[in-house]
This record gives sequence, C-alpha cells and structure tokens, in this order.
Amino acid sequence: MTRGDGRATPFHAEGERWYSGTVAMETLPHWINNAPAPASTDRTGDVYNPATGEVQRTVAYSTVADVDAAVRAASEAAVSWRVSSIAKRTRVLFAYRELVERHRDDLAKMLTLEHGKVFSDAQGEVQRGLEVVEFACGLADLTKGMFSENVSTEVDTYSIRQPVGVVAGITPFNFPAMVPMWMYPIAIACGNTFVLKPSERDPSVTNFCATLLKQAGLPDGVFNIVHGDKVAVDRLLEHPDVGAVSFVGSTPIARYIYETGTKHGKRVQALGGAKNHMVVLPDADMELAADAAVGAAYGSAGERCMAISVLVCVGDAADKLLPKIRERIAALKVGNGLDPSSQMGPLITKEHAAKVRGYIDAGVKEGAELLADGRSLVVKDHEKGFFVGPTLFDRVSPTMSIYQDEIFGPVLSTVRVKTYDEAVALIHAHRYANGVAIFTNDGGAARKFQNEIQVGMVGVNVPIPVPMSYYSFGGWKQSLFGDLHIYGRDGVQFYTRNKNVISRWPDPRFRGVDLGFPQNR
Ligand code: NAD
Repeated sequence: MTRGDGRATPFHAEGERWYSGTVAMETLPHWINNAPAPASTDRTGDVYNPATGEVQRTVAYSTVADVDAAVRAASEAAVSWRVSSIAKRTRVLFAYRELVERHRDDLAKMLTLEHGKVFSDAQGEVQRGLEVVEFACGLADLTKGMFSENVSTEVDTYSIRQPVGVVAGITPFNFPAMVPMWMYPIAIACGNTFVLKPSERDPSVTNFCATLLKQAGLPDGVFNIVHGDKVAVDRLLEHPDVGAVSFVGSTPIARYIYETGTKHGKRVQALGGAKNHMVVLPDADMELAADAAVGAAYGSAGERCMAISVLVCVGDAADKLLPKIRERIAALKVGNGLDPSSQMGPLITKEHAAKVRGYIDAGVKEGAELLADGRSLVVKDHEKGFFVGPTLFDRVSPTMSIYQDEIFGPVLSTVRVKTYDEAVALIHAHRYANGVAIFTNDGGAARKFQNEIQVGMVGVNVPIPVPMSYYSFGGWKQSLFGDLHIYGRDGVQFYTRNKNVISRWPDPRFRGVDLGFPQNR
C-alpha cells in the first residue's frame, strides 16, 4: 500500500483485503454483526476506477432478507447499547477517532480510487468527517435534560432524551466517507444502533470504517452495512423496526425517501440537491473572488452539493472577474487523483460524464456564450477515464437548462444582473436553496444579504460555507425535506426522543383517592 504521495504506509489488515487496488477483484460484502456478510444472491454492481474507466471490483446488492438480517442484528444490539453508559459509548468513539486519524491516508486513497477526487481533496473529506466524530465524543454535554423542582408540592418534573432505536442512513456517492460520518457517530453516541446503505458507486470505504469501529470496541450489531440499490432502500423505508432515516442525495430521491419514510411512521431528514449561487458585487476583491469561484466550481469536478455553479455578477463585475477566471482555468491540471500534480479528477461514471457534456451542448444551443469548453478533454494515458474539463459560460439566462438544473459537474454559469436586488430576486426564484455566497467589501451589503437571503447556508467572502460539526448542515426549499438539519445539535435532536417525567415520592400526607383533575398545589 502506498500513500498518494507514493510513500509506503502500513495498512489495516482487513482493509487491505477489501482494498481493490492490491487484490484480485472480489465482491464487497455487506457488514452485519461486526463481520462481513457475503451476498445472498448473485445480484451485484460494478465499482469503477473513474480515472481509468476500469471495473476494479463488484459490490453485493442486498435482498429484502439481507436488510432484514441487518435490522435484526441492530434491533438485538439496541437492547444493551441503549442502556450502556454515555462514558462507554463515547470511549468507543474516542478510540475510533484515533483509528480514523491514523488511517486518514488509507481512507483518502480508497476515496480517490473509487470516487476519483484528488488525494488532497479526499484527505480533506476524511478530516471534515472526523470533526463530526470529535463532536460526538462530547455527547455527554449535549444530551443533558431539564429538571424543575417542586412544580407542585413535593412534585418534580424533568425531561430526558432517549435514543430512537434502530436508525438508518442512506448516502450519496460524492462524499462516501464524510456524509455517513455526518450520521452514524452521533446516532451511535446517542445510544441508537445503525444500518447504513452507502452509495453503490464507491462503497469500499464504509466497510473499512466498519472494521475500524470494531477495532475501537463497538459491540456487535451496533453498526451494520447493507449495500445495494432501491431494493435495500425500500426495505429500510418500510421496515417496522427502523425508527428514523437520514438521507443525503438528489432531490427527486430525497422527496421519495421523505414521503415514503414518513408514510411508514418514521422520522425522516432528507437532504437533496443544489444550485449554489455566488453573488459578486462590483466592489469585491476580484482576485479573491476568482480564486474562490474556480476552487468552488471545479473542486471535486463540481461533484459537491456545495459547489458554486452560478456566478451572479452585478453591474460591471463580470467584465472584471471573468478574464481572471479564464486565466485560472487555463492553468488547471486535470488528471488521475493519485497524481500529486492533478487539481481536478474525473466524474463518477461514464454515463454521468456524458450527461454533463449533454448539458454543455444544451447551453450552447440555448444561446449561452461558452468561454471555456471541457467537452473534448482527453487525459494522456487515461483515455478511458470519465473526464470532463472545466467549463465556463457567460450570458446565461434563467430559463436555460444549465441554469435551472443541478448539473453536478465542472460547469460554471454566469448570469449578469444590473442590481443587488435583481441578484436576490434571481436566487429566491430558484427551487434549490442549499448554499449561497456573496463577495463584496461592503460590510453593510453583506449583512443585508445574510439577513434576507432565503437559503440555508450563507458565505460572506467564503464560497463553500459548510458549517462546522458543532453547528448543523442543511438547505432550505427543495434542498431539504424534513425540519431538522444534519449533525450538530440538530443531529442530536434527530437521533433522540424527548421524554417528560413528573415524579412524586409517596408522602403519607397526600394519600387517599382523588378523582379531581391534577392541580398544582
Ligand atoms: P442519488 O440520489 O442518486 O443517490 C443517493 C442514494 O439513494 C444512494 O445510496 C442510492 O443508492 C439511493 N437511490 C438512488 N436511486 C434510488 C431510488 N430510485 N430509490 C431508492 N434509493 C435510491 O444521489 P447521488 O447521485 O449518489 O449523489 C449526488 C446528489 O446528492 C446530488 O444531487 C447532490 O447535490 C446530492 N447531495 C446533497 C448533499 C446535501 O447535503 N444536500 C450532500 C451531498 C450530495
């Protein structure tokens, strides 16, 4: 095993076995009761290395029976896990934190091999996931209830937060390590047991994390993985023993998950897609704005739910900004994510790369001005890789499909508006409201914007305002179905239920039958 920088590093034995780059192709199994659970059918999916276009392994697809086995394991484990002490639960997470830290580069390399993002970006993904593990280590302070003494004579009342039971996570391909870490560390620390259905496109890293959780001392059945597709998801949504579902993915599926899960009586948080705008006022520092726009639009090949995909240039900002962005695009190095000189990697699949090229075709056809065209990019020695180069459009209008739809690729559209108010109205008219940014040197304008903009996460001279682990992440409108955001305090609330207790210790003075409505005395 080598790091992305080519230096040798020891690799966790079980992780090594599943690490596709060093062993003959095998089928990635599910993970139930702290052990690999082989596929029960021959239904599998291919997992590619997007940089080479080659299939590097297959992954088992769950049947209903596989999901039932995982939920059974989680239900059985929940009996003792929910009553284990907070200290014991968080001690496991402290140990897990150390293991993830130690294997950060191994995890990052797996991410690069299956997702395609460049190694340094993958390291960043592991780091941001780790921060949620660290947050969960401090759970003792976050689940404290309330207590009121003598609400009536010698009567006390208090509230406690208790785990939901078995909870499920369904996650997307674009952050295969971090997004599950938004969920399971907090859920597990709160005393729940977990069944994860990761993306079938880049699933290996979650099995490796499962081996680390086991090594950290997590009891059997507390964390389980079922791989696969809609069959697995639908069973989780209807299973009577699953109490809550966290979902992150595209908006059509998020809506489906929310509607189906709630119909089956579960609490659901379903985070969806995005179309993030970056407003540039004419007084902005254009060098800073150009660096930020290029990083946020083309980092991870635009496959981030917080990627900037629309520049909203006010007044003459576009004339000052776009030449600087073009200069930076011309210098970008696209290639295999394991090559330390690469700044941007491939897209996740051949089909997705074709879809992104199709959007660029549509933008040209609908009359937008193409300033940089990534359609014909070929990376040397990686001719079969799923690459699309950085693409920049100017004079995009709000009716065009490149403006309306989430492309999820390295395509940045520029809309020119005359005033700040027009910029705000444009953003408010869009159905997505995940993240947004404003670039300006005017503190008053920035404050007005952060106050009035109808979007869940706002950056001021910061293009990708992903909240820290001790805040919570989530968009508004069609970027989130449900009322609680993910991780942070909202996460604790989502994975726990409130219970209120009123208690009186028998006192001889208050004995005797009383049919009256209880009153405060
Ligand atoms: P996706 O919606 O296709 O898949 C997400 C999960 O749902 C996967 O586990 C997949 O197996 C499952 N799934 C797919 N189709 C299904 C169906 N018909 N029925 C049941 N389950 C199904 O999303 P993706 O392509 O993996 O990820 C990219 C999307 O995720 C983008 O839209 C991106 O904006 C979004 N995303 C959002 C956030 C956020 O926090 N809002 C974060 C990351 C990604």
